[in-house]
Amino acid sequence: MAGNWKMYKTAGDTTAFFEKFLPLVASATDRDIVICAPYVNLPAAIAAVSGSRVEVGAQNLYWGKEGAFTGEISGPMLTAIGCKWVIVGHSERRQFFGETDATVLKRTQAALEHGLLPIVCVGERLEERESGSTEAVLKTQFDGGIAGLTPEQFSKIAIAYEPVWAIGTGKTATPEIAQQAHAYIRGLIVEKFGEAAAAASRILYGGSVKPDNVKNLMGQTDIDGALVGGASLEPASFGAIVNH
Ligand code: PEP
Repeated sequence: MAGNWKMYKTAGDTTAFFEKFLPLVASATDRDIVICAPYVNLPAAIAAVSGSRVEVGAQNLYWGKEGAFTGEISGPMLTAIGCKWVIVGHSERRQFFGETDATVLKRTQAALEHGLLPIVCVGERLEERESGSTEAVLKTQFDGGIAGLTPEQFSKIAIAYEPVWAIGTGKTATPEIAQQAHAYIRGLIVEKFGEAAAAASRILYGGSVKPDNVKNLMGQTDIDGALVGGASLEPASFGAIVNH
């Protein structure tokens, strides 16, 4: 169960969040819990989760190790501070910051090389769903951004299916629509990496997940977790989602 805070919260807000959140999820020992915070809040988040089962992730990384790349953050910088996870290819990065399937693959490979666990995002836009090309879009994103990993690399990633029309809009995909897309993605994994890899892989759903819809979504066969934006900002709502 992963939260994506996007560009919200200061370091002070981060510490205050975890003071309330950690006791709420203390008995959720059968699931991984991750908060992906803005870069500058990672040290506060990592200090706050110390001694708990909650882990911390970043929301992006650059694929170079170091160099003249003003404004960028590398994998080794993230691992050095105790960051464990990183979101790659979020639709907001694709939409506003020029992310492509090729750069998703580079970032994912760099993350793995430096010991980070990537959550790789895929998902179709509204016009793509309406024109009936959801599966074609998912296949292109999978082929360009994920299929280039080795089987060993693939075993370490989580995939997040996030239909762009459901992100931050309050329009959740119905459990059936989400399940269909997840099953399709799992089929792509079978074709490329085999049955065992597909069965072991974790496909998270993201798009307006809330405490009142998480149970139905998580009840679907191929939905293994959630990537949660807005509802991860409040300890009570993300706590309820984690504990669903
Ligand atoms: C997200 O940012 O990945 C997301 C799914 O956002 P929201 O839950 O707010 O739709």
